[in-house]
Amino acid sequence: MSDYIIRATAANNQIRAFAATTRDLVEAARVAHDPSPVATAALGRLLTAGSMMGIMMKGEKDILTLQIMGNGPIEKIIVTADGRGNVKGYVNNPNIIIPANSKGKLDVASAIGAGLLSVTKDMGLKEPYSSQTVLQTSEIAEDLTYYFATSEQVPSCVGLGVLMNHNNTVKQSGGFIIQLMPFAEEVIIDRLEKKIQKITSVTTLLDAGYTPEMLLEHILGEFGLEITKQIPTRFYCNCSKERIEKAIISIGKEDIREMIEAGESIEVNCHFCNHHYDFTVDELEQILHRKIKQNA
Ligand code: ZN
Repeated sequence: MSDYIIRATAANNQIRAFAATTRDLVEAARVAHDPSPVATAALGRLLTAGSMMGIMMKGEKDILTLQIMGNGPIEKIIVTADGRGNVKGYVNNPNIIIPANSKGKLDVASAIGAGLLSVTKDMGLKEPYSSQTVLQTSEIAEDLTYYFATSEQVPSCVGLGVLMNHNNTVKQSGGFIIQLMPFAEEVIIDRLEKKIQKITSVTTLLDAGYTPEMLLEHILGEFGLEITKQIPTRFYCNCSKERIEKAIISIGKEDIREMIEAGESIEVNCHFCNHHYDFTVDELEQILHRKIKQNA
């Protein structure tokens, strides 16, 4: 795995920035879920954002969940990330195929449609932080820019890109998040705005072989870019047979009994990584016993 995220500052800490290369992790997600190219692009963009936003959280045990719900054929995309570069996710309808947009690109906006972005941060407090914003373009990057501006009051610029090979594997994936700190001077804000307007698309830069360092140097080089940290990132699911067992225990006794009476082993799939877990009738009976004991 060669994916990583860099953290950086510029203009004497008035700007903070993140950039990531996520080709391998998006390809791992593609192998796990076998989504169509447009669904891969949508999931890949949100996974890339999730990996960087996970790193932004303060605590290593904090969990970030990004959820996009739209009226387009994908219906829903969910991405979960932690503070150590682990990210996982899935789309509701991975098989959708829609025509390319007017620029001949994968039409992520139409696949998602109009809807909501919700951001949840579980920082181990009683109530997780949660915020919902209306999707602005449904291209994901602009929707996150809007989220940062309205919900976190942090002026930001988000760029995300996923490029597919002709054989439908992932060719390039990556992105950046640039944010202005509250004490940023007007002159820096003006210069950064002008600079950002001139940036060609992330996809173009990735296709030209830009690394995360080069992406940030391209945008922030003239502001005195200082890279402070490099963090590996990967597609990782923490599911296990024990966790799936807990999920089965949480359903009703009658439902478990029905499965046992059907006399066949059952297969349970993890939403996030599509791993299959088999439970034999014997195992289901043990689960039912444990449930009855728990309730006694
Ligand atoms: Zn899993």
